[in-house]
Order: sequence, then structure tokens, then C-alpha cells
Amino acid sequence: MGISVQPLVLKHPNVFYPITCKLKKAVKQIPHRRVRYSMHKGNIKAVVQHPNEMNPLLQMKTEMKRVEKEIPTNPPHWKFCYSMMNKISTMLVLMIQSLDDKELRDAGCALYVVLRALDTVEDDPEISDELKIPVLEAFHRHIYDPDFRFKCGTKLKKVLMDNFHHVSRAFLDVNKSYQEIIEDTTMNIGAGMAKFLTKEVETIDDYVEYCYLTGTLVSLGFERLFQVSGKQIVFPDHLSNAIGLFVQKTDVIKDFMEDIGEKTSHMAWPREIWSKYVNNLEDLTSEENTEKAIQCVNEMVTEDLVHMNDCLEFLSQLHDPSIFRFFGILQVLTIAEVALCYNNIQVFREKISLTPDLVAKIFVRTKTMADVYGAFYEFSSIILSKVEMNDPNAKIAISRIEAVQRLCRDSGTLDNWESYIHESDQPTNMLCPPKPNPSQVNGKST
Ligand code: MG
Repeated sequence: MGISVQPLVLKHPNVFYPITCKLKKAVKQIPHRRVRYSMHKGNIKAVVQHPNEMNPLLQMKTEMKRVEKEIPTNPPHWKFCYSMMNKISTMLVLMIQSLDDKELRDAGCALYVVLRALDTVEDDPEISDELKIPVLEAFHRHIYDPDFRFKCGTKLKKVLMDNFHHVSRAFLDVNKSYQEIIEDTTMNIGAGMAKFLTKEVETIDDYVEYCYLTGTLVSLGFERLFQVSGKQIVFPDHLSNAIGLFVQKTDVIKDFMEDIGEKTSHMAWPREIWSKYVNNLEDLTSEENTEKAIQCVNEMVTEDLVHMNDCLEFLSQLHDPSIFRFFGILQVLTIAEVALCYNNIQVFREKISLTPDLVAKIFVRTKTMADVYGAFYEFSSIILSKVEMNDPNAKIAISRIEAVQRLCRDSGTLDNWESYIHESDQPTNMLCPPKPNPSQVNGKST
């Protein structure tokens, strides 16, 4: 009963490949470059072998074009905010634009641009903590003031901050009950960012608190917007917390090299975990510590796996299709990223992401709970295939994977699951590009 992806995973253990841009940035490249690249640079054979594989990319491209056309041209503040959201986070704009309630879409857009502006203040390495802290702590009041100015950020984020009056006017344009949620969310996240600017993440409790403040509060903000719109039931805290923590902890693990390289983000890996393996966090990147680094990332991932069952429980209670997709796509992308990171030394070599092709497939195929059970079963099987019994946390990882797989099997929906990864795939296919070779990626001979 159910599916078994293990044999094909063992045959093609490198079902992912690292690319040098973040997932969300990579998604932005899909509409033009990735499709053309796939068609013209050697993937024609793969397309012929799996003609349906092109559909997700094309479907996503079509959807992105549609969303781009729907960006309001008036008033200017909405034009600016939707355009910014579209440029910064294609995936999120796709999900927000698919909500059928206009007021809710506007509120979601306002929440997104306000939090992105707040994050720009937190991330600017050129500004001292003394200057940043009062701005972060009072940001929930600044959003009421279209004349507020705080010069920071680079590129798109600078444009966002230079045009803060549009952000403020969009916020002031949504109805009062949405404003209260956006204000409250901004206040709590701003206070959390200010606190951790001057505090190291020492213990696992610190790590959970940091991920709660910078990740869970964001998803809770959206959840509260949906509740006010009357579209969603209220969830117990442990379920709401789980979906935010699962996403944020996974980002912290996956973005190790990006965060340590740019020095703009807080390093959230807790000393309580990494100090078991190395003396300094940076030491995880050196070749001589490869074995320790693998064990360390595996402990981080194993700790993250604890949220899987609660995430499924949360999603199984969502009944509005567009809200289900809003949370469901993100959770499936997250379990795929977790599978990417486990036992993968590339976490400490370069920025890693899922392939845009896989992102597009997940975007297109995640529509029902059966799709989520199938994806969780498949990606957890990939993790299971990578567990080595001499890893210090192997037993805990296996028991957590078995627990989520039991839940997936008990749903009775796995029989019709169509695997994301094809057994007949060759190294040139969309999920297994020829570079780098598997032995480089997994740090061990395959
Ligand atoms: Mg930040």
C-alpha cells in the first residue's frame, strides 16, 4: 500500500542540485530564462521523455503573467506596493493574488510590504544598532505616518524605503480591523528584532524564540487576516506555531552560507547545537570538518522534523481552497528543502535552493490534502534514504520520519500519488542536472 520512492532515490540519490540563488529569487527567473534554458540548452531530450514536465513551468509562467497584468494601476500606492511585492517575492504574490476577496488581498499586500520595510531596517549592516533599535521598536507607529523617512537598504529594498509614503498610504487604506493586526504584528516582530540585534542565539530555547519572532509571527499575521475575513477557523497555538517554525527553521538551516557571507542577517544557529561539533560557527565551512558539519546539519534538520505532523494537522483543517494553497504550497516547499539540506555538505559550501522546475511542480500540484500527504511521504522518504546509522541523531530522525509517514499512510490517499521524481530520469532531466555530480553534493561516494 502507498508509494515507495526509496529504490528510485537510491538509484538517483541526488534528486536536487544546489544553485547559487535563493528559492524565491530563483522562482522569479522561471517566466523567461528558465523555460528558455530548458528548451534550448540541452534539456530537449528530457522534455521529449516527459512531455508533461514542461507544463508546470509553463503553467506557472502563465499564472505569473496573469498576476502581473492584474497589478492595479491606480491609486499609485497600490500600484507601487503590488509591484514591489511582485518583484521581491513572486511566490507570495501568486498566492496573495489568488485570494478571491479584494480587501483581503490588499491587507495581505500591506502586511507584506510593511514587514519587508521593517526587515530592511533590521538587515542594513551600515546602520548602527543604536540607530536601528528605536526605529524597529516604533515601526508600528511609523506606518501611520506617510512622511516618515529612514534611509536604508540597497537596490529594491532602498526603492521600498525611499517610497515609504506609498507603504504607509496602502496600510492606511485597509480597513481598521486589518490595520490592527498589521500594527500588532509589526510591533511584536520589531521588538523581537531589536532584542536579538544585541543578543546571540545561545540555547535551543533562544533559537525557537528567534524563529517564532521572525517567522511564526509572520504566518500568524496572515492567519489572523484570514480569520478576520471570516474564511478560516481559529487554530490551537501549537498548530499555528508549528507551520511558522517549520518554515523559519528550514530557512535558517538552508541559508547558512548566505547569512554568514552577507553578515546582514542574524546567525540563528544555536551555540547549544553547533558547539558539540566545532569551536566556532565558521569552522563548519572548512573541509577538515566535513564529517562534523554533516552531523551538525543533520541535528539541526532532525530538530526541525518535530513539526511535520502538526503541519499536516494544521493543513488538514483548512477548507477554503485559496487559503489551503497559501499555506500548503509553502509547507510542501519546506519539506522539500528539508530533504535537500539533510546530510548535504553543500549547506556549508554555497547558497542552495530547490530547482525552479521542482518549485513550479510543487506550485502547480499542491491543491488538496492528498497532494500534501503524497509530497510529505515522498520527501520524507528521501530524507530516510539519506540517514546513515552512525549519525548521532539517526534514531530520532528515523522515528520522526516514521511518525509522519504513518500519518500519510493512514490518510488512505497515497495509492494514486504520482511521484515528483521519475525512476527513468537521466542526469540531464529537470531534477538532476549534470552538475555537480552526486559525490560532490552529498560529500560521499554514491
Ligand atoms: Mg532580516
